[in-house]
Amino acid sequence: MAQQQDPFLYALSSNNAWAGYKAHQNPAFFSKLASGQSPQILWLGCSDSRCPETTILGLQPGDVFVHRNIANIISPTDINTSAVIEYAVALLKVKHVVLCGHTACGGAAAALSDSRVGGVLDTWLTPLKAVRQEHAEELDAIKDDAARAMRIAEFNVEAGVKVLLANFTVQEAIRDRGLEVHGCLFDIASGRIRDLGYGTKGGRGFSGDGSDDVVRGKYAQLVFRGGNASMAALQ
Ligand SMILES: [Zn+2]
Repeated sequence: MAQQQDPFLYALSSNNAWAGYKAHQNPAFFSKLASGQSPQILWLGCSDSRCPETTILGLQPGDVFVHRNIANIISPTDINTSAVIEYAVALLKVKHVVLCGHTACGGAAAALSDSRVGGVLDTWLTPLKAVRQEHAEELDAIKDDAARAMRIAEFNVEAGVKVLLANFTVQEAIRDRGLEVHGCLFDIASGRIRDLGYGTKGGRGFSGDGSDDVVRGKYAQLVFRGGNASMAALQ
């Protein structure tokens, strides 16, 4: 059984099987992949193991440029996040920037707690602590822990989208070539991504209702569905 094996050795053998399967399914897959990347989506998400962007989007290697950190915090002075945004938006010229939080986020729970996490983690979570303070009244009124954690995750995405929309490179790309910014939340319990409507086009609700925008990757496509102009007011 996989559980009894060394996890790293199991991962390597799984990779071997995956590579064999992909090459069998499409003999040109890896040679095409090796020729370069032209992803249409920049994904900014949480490091949580349950939120692997390419997998949950049903996309493939080559489709999504990625930066993930603890609690998907977008801080303008974080050179790591900023460099990824710069490269993806200015050089790769992605068409969509997706900032996605998620339910049951450990970072959100830590920010809602009054105890220290320890080490550098409290410093990292400071912007999320500020989000908590800013929305303390609404958050404190939510009795259910999971619902409160989801609400602060939504506020966190809202704050992150504001930082993205204030970024010069992002602003120029929106103005010059119609870059779209989306603020989303991944519901782990259902596997669905919900557009929160904090971005450039307003919300589109849960994935899977109606039909709107199709992003074609090299090997798959992502469909943003159900968008309508009346939701733009949520911005
Ligand atoms: Zn998280």
